[in-house]
Amino acid sequence: MSGDAYRDRVTKILFSEETIGRRVTELAEAIAHDYAEGNAALDKQGRPLLLVCILRGALIFSADLARRLSIPLEYDLICVSSYRNKTAPGAVRLIQDLEVPIVGRDVLIVEDIVDTGHTANYLMSSLQARKPASIRICTLIDKVARREVPTEVDYAGFELKEDAFIVGYGMDYAELYRNLPFIGVLKPDFI
Ligand code: IMP
Repeated sequence: MSGDAYRDRVTKILFSEETIGRRVTELAEAIAHDYAEGNAALDKQGRPLLLVCILRGALIFSADLARRLSIPLEYDLICVSSYRNKTAPGAVRLIQDLEVPIVGRDVLIVEDIVDTGHTANYLMSSLQARKPASIRICTLIDKVARREVPTEVDYAGFELKEDAFIVGYGMDYAELYRNLPFIGVLKPDFI
């Protein structure tokens, strides 16, 4: 398939590469400001903020966000998968856990989308149990209207009010489209 045919599978571009870039810079500035303000960007033992990238959807967003953050940081990865069927609604499966212990650390979870909120809630409760000093959530897309469980999002790139399934910039349909640099809606023919 040609690159043009691949891109043409997306019917409506909601957020262009430039729009995303500008918003990620703004988020990074807000995060750097908040963490540098409270604790000089280091915890009591001198350790920096830990970004936790939620694979696989948040890979590209996390990489761009990390490069725009001016404060010292470390990052680690968690891979989860959500069951999207009626037998186990909202169930989340842990595929790969963090490498580093987070007790006493400042942790920022980086998500691609908070949709129903099940994944974010699962991550919050399982990481909270490990007693970090603080834990917050940053998501690129917040699908506010689709929430099934209350979820507090600390930093959101864009609120999506319409009920659309979106792809690009890390987000997939059947593992495709993650490498498109923009975010858009897939044509119904390809779903
Ligand atoms: P939640 O548990 O329903 O909040 O869903 C979270 C995960 O579902 C996100 O991290 C995404 O990986 C995936 N997801 C939800 N909506 C979309 C979408 O529109 N496109 C691609 N993935 C999505």
